Amino acid sequence: MDRINYEEHMMLFQRVAELLDLPPRIRLELSQPTKEVMLNFTAQLQDRLKRIPEEEWGRFAHVPESNAVVDRDFITANNLEVLADGDIVFDRRVFGRDRISLEDGVVKFSDGSVYRLVRGAPRQFKGYRVQHNNARGPYKGGLRFHQDVHIDLFKLLASEMTWKTAIANVPYGGGKGGIRIDPEMYSVTELERISTRFVYKLKSLVGPYYDIPAPDMGTNARIMGWMFRQYSDGERSRHQLRAAFTGKDVRIGGSLGRREATGRGVFFCIDEWLSRRPNIKQPVTYTVQGFGNVGTWAARCMAEKGHRCVGIQDRWGSIRNDDGIDLNELLQHMADPENVRSSVAGFSGADDVSEGEFWKIPATVCIPAALQGAINADVAEDMDVKLIAEGANGPTTAVADRILKAKGVEVIPDVICNAGGVTVSYYEWLQNLQMSHWSEDEVNTRLEKTLRHNYGIILDIAEGRRPSDQNFEQLSLGREVSIREASMVVALHRIANHYSLEGFSQ
Ligand code: NAD
Repeated sequence: MDRINYEEHMMLFQRVAELLDLPPRIRLELSQPTKEVMLNFTAQLQDRLKRIPEEEWGRFAHVPESNAVVDRDFITANNLEVLADGDIVFDRRVFGRDRISLEDGVVKFSDGSVYRLVRGAPRQFKGYRVQHNNARGPYKGGLRFHQDVHIDLFKLLASEMTWKTAIANVPYGGGKGGIRIDPEMYSVTELERISTRFVYKLKSLVGPYYDIPAPDMGTNARIMGWMFRQYSDGERSRHQLRAAFTGKDVRIGGSLGRREATGRGVFFCIDEWLSRRPNIKQPVTYTVQGFGNVGTWAARCMAEKGHRCVGIQDRWGSIRNDDGIDLNELLQHMADPENVRSSVAGFSGADDVSEGEFWKIPATVCIPAALQGAINADVAEDMDVKLIAEGANGPTTAVADRILKAKGVEVIPDVICNAGGVTVSYYEWLQNLQMSHWSEDEVNTRLEKTLRHNYGIILDIAEGRRPSDQNFEQLSLGREVSIREASMVVALHRIANHYSLEGFSQ
């Protein structure tokens, strides 16, 4: 993966600021985040059973077998969890349910496997929150749990949120944060402890009218629920604080349609792009990289319209089927208790292929929905697609972008393509503040209208037309610009209005 460089990333902003002749003070306000915070905190980990290599099992012939088999069924029945690295989190409640023999610090299971008990210890974690800009409204942006995060990445992602909220025309600014951990290596109980301890430290920095986190990679509705509890517990007006976190479960104040929103938004943008290209025969083929929240829902919406998924990649493997991958069967494969990593790999309805082969699969559309920088120069050279719909944030490197342009591959930039998530987060926030509920139809109809409208504005600007939207009456570029530049024009135009019409407090 190419190295992230914040200054390099901001070159698009600088170029478009120049193009719009943005006043120097507004440029400075936007060029660096308002606040960059790093938080060190601790949490207590649980005991673990670590697998002893098979060649050493003979040494433990004297250890009586425990009456259980190590697989997911057993784990579910006994509150023991298998983590992605194969370690088992050892919960003492299992003693109340099963005959577990612990001798010489090891446990032997009925399949002969032997595990050593390692005591849980406290561990230190590093958390982050970057607040980029709040000229248009409270800071807004996801919390990412991933092993490779760092402050420059969060600066970059927070600035992207400033542009994205302006493009989606929701009254927010941009923020981003998270924790440097691999969440697949921690139990549910540990994740709850880590998430809530993080919020304990973060509390003074967030709030429903100040900075509103949401899920991102490695976090989900369940984690948002815990975070809300930690944030609001003991507060007198606790329920008015529900809007402090979006992306919650619908049963505790989340919005219908929020879980699906980012993927659905990706689909609306692809559909809008296709509707403007009558030469492309529909249904089309597509591939997806990253099969989590965004990837699965984008794929499901595409499949509903009859489009054919021919390749999928996740962290653990890649699959291909030129006749089409049956998504329902694939989701069943991922939910299989034996499939500890819930991966697409090993699905019987497709062939397993290498990571490199995945990127060469010919298709009309590719939806990157995993990590930033996934499409680098080499990948861009290999790709055989007409459109890249950026479900992930920053999946295409600058060099790859130039290669794709030369190859005639078009892009729907992340700032509009995955803006469905923050748009429905805004609807959730509104519902929480009003203590009301919208129907799923209402959410989806508003989402579709707003995304198609704003994507249309970007396309107008890119193609050298003045958008019919009255906010852009004053805009006159007089020439065509790239789709990424056009997106930035929309963002900066809307943000600059706040500075020029409100002025600066001293
Ligand atoms: P997720 O954690 O639900 O899923 C991530 C997926 O990516 C998983 O399938 C994982 O296996 C896969 N993955 C991880 N590392 C990979 C690698 N090296 N190669 C291939 N696949 C890999 O995350 P998500 O919420 O779906 O977010 C995915 C992307 O979309 C992120 O870039 C995120 O910032 C962006 N995004 C998410 C939302 C949202 O509402 N969740 C909104 C806007 C943007």
